[in-house]
Amino acid sequence: MGFEKFGEISFISETKVSDFINYLEQGKIMATRCQQCQASYFPPRMDCPRCLNNNMGWFEIKKHGKLVNHVQVNYAPAGFESSAPYYLAIGEFADGVKIFSRLSRDIKKEDIQTGMNLKVVPVKLPGNRLSYEFQKG
Ligand SMILES: [Zn+2]
Repeated sequence: MGFEKFGEISFISETKVSDFINYLEQGKIMATRCQQCQASYFPPRMDCPRCLNNNMGWFEIKKHGKLVNHVQVNYAPAGFESSAPYYLAIGEFADGVKIFSRLSRDIKKEDIQTGMNLKVVPVKLPGNRLSYEFQKG
């Protein structure tokens, strides 16, 4: 692949990945799947690093999954100091999709258990920003 082509592919990829935000606004959490080797990606990617194909399709993540692992964050990065302590977690969802996100504040520390049911839900943050988090599923 010529390197001059790389920029163009990269540009197109970013444009396509911005669809992720549009889906999030509609309450959908979407991943991509390579149409050639069926590998799935979250966060979505528009090029498959496994088979170098760029024929990717969107699919909606099934909202219910399980907690794989979590960590307590006591010292939050700049801008998030007031929200510490909080929990970052990895959840596993259908199709083997793993998502790294924050656990909802509604989940109490004593209730957090590996293997517990989770759902991944779009959330609105202050300043009209969008994100997603894990809630009890
Ligand atoms: Zn692939």
